[in-house]
Amino acid sequence: MALEGSCLCGGVRFEVAGDLEPGSFCHCTSCKRISGGVGTANGRARTDQIRIVEGADLLRTYQPDEGTAKTFCSRCGSNLFGGGWPDSETASVRLPAIGTPFEGRPVRHVYTRSLAPWETLPDDGLERFEAPAGR
Ligand SMILES: [Zn+2]
Ligand SMILES: [Zn+2]
Repeated sequence: MALEGSCLCGGVRFEVAGDLEPGSFCHCTSCKRISGGVGTANGRARTDQIRIVEGADLLRTYQPDEGTAKTFCSRCGSNLFGGGWPDSETASVRLPAIGTPFEGRPVRHVYTRSLAPWETLPDDGLERFEAPAGR
């Protein structure tokens, strides 16, 4: 079963074949800036399982000086993929972009050393890592 995803304006639609592997809540400063919130919520997928159905021309990829490339919709700004997509073997898929209900949720909080003064980690029992969790 494929999961269907889209950006806020609907210009970009994509599918992820198969299940998303559990990913991380990332609290790094880059993810805060691109999300407008406390960070990103991610699943992992093989890059070759991600298919852009519509709006490939709207996608822009930004490579920060540090960290992996982030891809967003140039019309509405929705953050869709990270982890180096489309050139990496696996990619982060931003969970808010996925419209299909699915099981699974992030299993850890990473980059907790970058917590903002206005940010509180939820008491959800998930593992927490100061930095990336071994990747
Ligand atoms: Zn859009
Ligand atoms: Zn991050």
